Amino acid sequence: MSHATAPYLFCPVCGKPLQNSIIDNHPRSACSNCSYVHWGNFSLGVGGVLWHNDKVLLVQRGHNPGKGMWTIPGGYVDQGESIAAAIIREIQEETGIKSKPLSIIGLRDYPAEKHDTYIIFLMEFLGGTLLAQPGEVSDLGFFTLKESYALPIPSLTLSALEASHSASQGLLINSDVKLSSKLSTLYQIH
Ligand SMILES: [Zn+2]
Repeated sequence: MSHATAPYLFCPVCGKPLQNSIIDNHPRSACSNCSYVHWGNFSLGVGGVLWHNDKVLLVQRGHNPGKGMWTIPGGYVDQGESIAAAIIREIQEETGIKSKPLSIIGLRDYPAEKHDTYIIFLMEFLGGTLLAQPGEVSDLGFFTLKESYALPIPSLTLSALEASHSASQGLLINSDVKLSSKLSTLYQIH
């Protein structure tokens, strides 16, 4: 099964017809005129587990999918944005809380028609006052693990809360390695 061919006929860069080509051993839509290749339809999401005084920050979703459910704050990564910058931004936008990433503690892969990958960070509380983002978040707060069991909460969220108490720190940034691109960040087991 392959979703590699583009769901459109013309090049989004130059407007010339796309043609089916074998690139890296896969059939892909490529432009007949410029270097454009449709690599697929991917999205990258981030979520953050943020404990403060033994309570975890949860938000109640203001719209579907999952309206009314309680989850860790998070959202989608913008093009050109690092995953760390995305989770800092999303938590601040949704909750008013300033935080910084400590490590990566989980990853959920969903290779559907839009391949959706969701990376879960453990965050450190830095400050701020709770303020729900209008529309996105209908309610929010800090909850003990016991209190969170009583909320309507997805199994993925609950599992992330439990994993955040693990002895393993997860993946940490390794800044000792000089990577070929300054844009790159290496997350590694410790
Ligand atoms: Zn083109």
